[in-house]
Parts: sequence; C-alpha cells; structure tokens
Amino acid sequence: MTEPFDEKLERAKRDGLLRSLRVAESCNGRSAIIDGKEVILFGSNDYLGLANHPDIKNAAIDCVKKYGWGSGASPLISGRTALHEKFEEKIASFLEKPAALMFSSGYSANVGVLTALMGRDDEIFADRLCHASIIDGARFSGAKLKRFAHNDIDSLTNLLGKGEGRGKRLIVTDGLFSMDGDKAPLKALAELASVNGAMLMVDDAHGFGVFGPDGRGTVHEAGISEMVDIHVVTLGKALGGAGGVVLGSRKLIDGLVNFSRSYIYSTAPPSAAACAGSAALEIVSGSEGDRRRGALFSNVETILSGLRKHGAEIGDGKSQIIPVTMGSEEKALDYAKFLLEGGVFVPAIRPPTVPPNSSRLRISIISEHTCDDLFQFLNIFGRITLVE
Ligand SMILES: *Cc1c(COP(=O)(O)O)cnc(C)c1O
Repeated sequence: MTEPFDEKLERAKRDGLLRSLRVAESCNGRSAIIDGKEVILFGSNDYLGLANHPDIKNAAIDCVKKYGWGSGASPLISGRTALHEKFEEKIASFLEKPAALMFSSGYSANVGVLTALMGRDDEIFADRLCHASIIDGARFSGAKLKRFAHNDIDSLTNLLGKGEGRGKRLIVTDGLFSMDGDKAPLKALAELASVNGAMLMVDDAHGFGVFGPDGRGTVHEAGISEMVDIHVVTLGKALGGAGGVVLGSRKLIDGLVNFSRSYIYSTAPPSAAACAGSAALEIVSGSEGDRRRGALFSNVETILSGLRKHGAEIGDGKSQIIPVTMGSEEKALDYAKFLLEGGVFVPAIRPPTVPPNSSRLRISIISEHTCDDLFQFLNIFGRITLVE
C-alpha cells in the first residue's frame, strides 16, 4: 500500500526542500532549548520581547481565572465576550479606524476578509511577495488574481491599465515584507489606488508595534491611514500574543460579521487572547514601547554593520528582518547548520516560501538580544565566511 504523500515527500527530500518540525523548550524569544541544547534564537517574531512580559502574562492569567479558557462557541453564537469588544474598541482607537474585528489568527483574518469582499467579477492586484495567507484568500475568493513585481509601481500601473474594470478592484500588499525585510511604497500605492478607483488593503503583521508613531506601524509611518480601506494587523508578532485583527469602516466590519466564513464558522479566540492584546497595546503605545523599540533598532544597527564587514549580501532594508541571500538551498542549509553547532539558531528559508535560487538566512532581531548574543552570531558567521 502506498502511504499518503509518498511521492511528494520523496521529491521534496531529493530537492533539499524537506521540512520537519522542531520542538523548542522554554522558548522566550531570545533563547530556546532545541534538540536538548540551549541556543540563541534569531528566528523569532517576538520583536519586542512581549511574549514573556509580566503584565501581559498576568492579564491573560487573570482573565482565565475569571472567565475560563475556551470561548465555547463561534462569535455569532455566544463565543464573543465584552473582552473581545473592549479590545476591538481599543485597537480601533489606537489605529484611528472606526471599527475592528478580532480573528483567531492573521491567516484567517486575511482569508476571511478577501473571500467575503471579493468575488468572480472582481480583480485583486497583489505584490508578488505578499504573504501566503493573502494569496490563499485571493485564490479562495474566486477573483482574478494579478500579481505585480515586488514593490514595483510601474508593474502595478501597467496591470491596472489592462484591467477589465467590471467589478471591484483591490490592491493588496504587506506593510513590511516578512522574507525581505523591506517596506512597501505605501504612499505611491495609496495614490495609485485612489487614481484608479481601487481599494487598498495593507497587512502590517511585521510592522505593527515596531514602526510608526507609538508603534502604530508602517501605515501610520507613511501617513496614509485614511487612504487604507482594509488594515490588517496580527497579535502574534511584536505584540507577543495570538490573533489577527481587521480594521476599517463600520460597514466593512458589519460585512465581515455577516459574510466572512473564516470568522463565522470558527470558535471565537479565547477572551484571554483579547485581554493579552489589550495589555500589549498599553505597553506598545507607552514609554516602555519606545524603550524596547530603541533597543531593537540599536541591535539591528550592530548586526547590519557586522554583516557588512563580513561582506554578506544583505539588501538595503533597515528593519528587524535581515535576509542574507545565499542562493542555493544547500548553502543556506550549510550556514544554518554551522551556526546551530555554534549555539545560534537562524532559519534557512527555502522555496516555496521564497523564489527559486534565492534561499537565504533570515535573521530576526529582537529587543531582548544582548550584545553577547549579537557578537556570538557575528563571530560564527565571520568564521564560516573565512573558510568558504
Ligand atoms: C504571520 C503573518 C500572517 C499570519 O498571521 P498569524 O496570526 O500568524 O496567522 C499574515 N500576514 C503576514 C504578512 C504575516 O507575516
């Protein structure tokens, strides 16, 4: 009898693309025990070290003690509580949008909004490097999906010009790209959307909490919040929690409550996730958020200047996500293996997550990395480069 996936798994193995799960113990964003050995992590999205923040942990614990753990039902039945509502009001006010809706994850938020809003007669214009959840949502919606070259306004202009113009048109992009660490040209995209009668959707999963005034993200940094029709953020990255949030007009949110299948047919996230989200917002928007962002960017500077000294091929992005392009899958895996032997975990990112021949190490910096952590990474990286 053939096992499921026999052939596909064999092929992935042959191509150096096989993935396997890791078990991380005592993970705190900065270090973890992987395969029984303590390593420094350079692969976490917990950019501000909030996943272990005492105020956030306590907010979640208090909430569980009072209200229990599971929500027990989907939101339209009885799963949505006053705590979800309070959090939604708080984040809507922080991001200066009329309304917000909390999903269990960013993945389901993107799929939920795109499938509810867009249909067969509509067109979705998506950056080629958009997150997989956007691409999945666009495909599931049945709309015509047109992908423009990464951050390329000419390419998008060209596609918009060829549009059929029958239905709705939506331009969608990540705010900060998760594999390349660069930002979208939001201002130009907003202008293009407005000139072409298209809606604009920005998924700021990696920018939220890190960039912009008080950590509001790339949309507010670019000063185009009013031109963004659909603003998506996630709580699983800089906010150290779990969940996805869609923000926009009251009508948009009403539409999601009525038509978004990933929202309607899924158990509401635990109230504790909403409580933790509220507590995280307090920290992100306050002076402690500024302090943590300051530490984060100082760490980023240290790594960037160290990598440049070693002649590494890094783009000109200036964010907490630093891709070091390796090309072949093999080389990326070799580097990751040597680094791990030296006590440093850096993920090797391979196709299909990134295009063929652009395999890379993706270094994620967090505010909690110490100087020792940074130099341990740079020393090992430098030694491999010398041997090469
Ligand atoms: C991580 C991520 C998501 C998914 O969010 P989850 O809450 O982890 O499901 C969506 N979009 C982008 C750009 C992301 O980086």
